[in-house]
Amino acid sequence: MRSTKITLIGAGLAGCLLAIYLARRRFSVQVFERRPDMRKHALPAGRSINLSLSARGIHALQELELYGKLEAHLLAMPGRMIHGEKGELLYQPYGRDPSAVHYSVGRGILNKVLLNAAESAGAELFFATGCTGLDFENGRLFLRNEQDGTTQAQTFETLIAMDGAGSVVRHAMIEQGHIQGSDEHLAHGYKELTIPAGPNGACRLEKNALHIWPRGGFMLIALPNTDGSFTCTLFLPYAGPLSFETLRDEKSVLNFFETEFPDALPLIPNLSDDFLAHPTGTLGTVRCFPWRVGGKALLLGDAAHAVVPFHGQGMNCAFEDCAVFNQLLDKHQDWESLYLEFEASRKPNAEAIADMALENYIEMRDAVRDSKFHLCKKIEWLLEARHTQRFISRYAMIMFHRTPYLIAQARGEIQSAILEQLSASIDRVEDVDLELADKLIVEKLTPLSEEESLL
Ligand SMILES: Cc1cc2nc3c(=O)[nH]c(=O)nc-3n(C[C@H](O)[C@H](O)[C@H](O)COP(=O)(O)OP(=O)(O)OC[C@H]3O[C@@H](n4cnc5c(N)ncnc54)[C@H](O)[C@@H]3O)c2cc1C
Repeated sequence: MRSTKITLIGAGLAGCLLAIYLARRRFSVQVFERRPDMRKHALPAGRSINLSLSARGIHALQELELYGKLEAHLLAMPGRMIHGEKGELLYQPYGRDPSAVHYSVGRGILNKVLLNAAESAGAELFFATGCTGLDFENGRLFLRNEQDGTTQAQTFETLIAMDGAGSVVRHAMIEQGHIQGSDEHLAHGYKELTIPAGPNGACRLEKNALHIWPRGGFMLIALPNTDGSFTCTLFLPYAGPLSFETLRDEKSVLNFFETEFPDALPLIPNLSDDFLAHPTGTLGTVRCFPWRVGGKALLLGDAAHAVVPFHGQGMNCAFEDCAVFNQLLDKHQDWESLYLEFEASRKPNAEAIADMALENYIEMRDAVRDSKFHLCKKIEWLLEARHTQRFISRYAMIMFHRTPYLIAQARGEIQSAILEQLSASIDRVEDVDLELADKLIVEKLTPLSEEESLL
């Protein structure tokens, strides 16, 4: 394996990270990226400017000693700020523990740090070079020079596709009958807007929080940027009475914000211009299997398992993929057995986070408005403090620990049933039947093993 030339498709977040892992192990790595080099060309406006980075992503960056390079660009978010319909604010910390925090990071700066590190490690990067098709049997890929439109064929020994949710490689695998798959499109899309910084770079909202304007069937969120601005994302159905379909001119956009987000409206000066100019992004879940063609090609990151962004886990999960892949390199002598174990260990976890991310949309846009939800959160805190090894909220297992997603999902179901039972006939956390709570927890939840609760 050591002498293999590895071809990577996509120099996005996962593509760069895996290139670093592989090049530092002295593999010969070639990366083909469709877009021009983002270190020299600006990113298009309105496309996921910042992201939430949490435990899994941080772990991979720390393993590669890159986290330190990013720390100055991170903004801590230890809780969410809920904006009510009349502009009232409710701050909800994620937990008692100081480690219950995730970070807002700019996609551009993160990708640039990774591109530089991949190049320094010895990976060869080819920009404006898109993969247009593959012949897996003969190990040939077709590349288009995006500047002059010319196409050339090239051979590959083994190829790892990290070309994102719309993966050309995944589609080629499906079309050629190597794998089965589906793209489940959400009936909601998204639009990015900006709250600029105030005078002298002051933040116009609380800087250290993830802001949410939950409105039942839709929501607005905002993540802070280091320059004092916030990137807002409106998640809204495409069609229906309140939808992107009905917001097609300045008047309807302003009316909508005036009614639904009155406190956000004055903070977004270019609202209607930006709204009408920025693209409406699509959201969806990619499910496919297998993720490979023998030992010849593998899908990783969004190309294998794109998820909706409501748990802020797409990138974090893709980074965890890379860290797991790196561990498996110590164990396997051939690509086929490595790809097989990778897919066997990651697919069930990818399915679990895909489902939990969909569920979290309902929590963010709707449940957070409910007093029962807040009561359950308070009970959850109480139980976490009483049973530190057994009761860790599902949100915390996903975001602040590296508990495998599948285990977080299974334990989350048990915990949710316990919370349901304990909160059924009370309105105040002081009235929780603690004796019953202790009994249920000891009966139904084993202590998380070290491996399961990795911090
Ligand atoms: C609105 C929104 C908000 C999000 N927020 C978060 C968040 O807060 N936290 C989080 O963890 N995740 C978040 N995500 C998900 C995250 O963006 C993705 O999971 C992550 O980018 C996946 O990385 P990737 O490298 O697999 O794919 P990408 O980052 O999409 O990279 C794919 C790369 O492949 C290139 N490419 C595509 N096709 C070809 C081709 N044919 N040939 C060559 N190159 C090609 C692309 O140009 C790109 O550079 C969010 C997503 C969206 C849409």
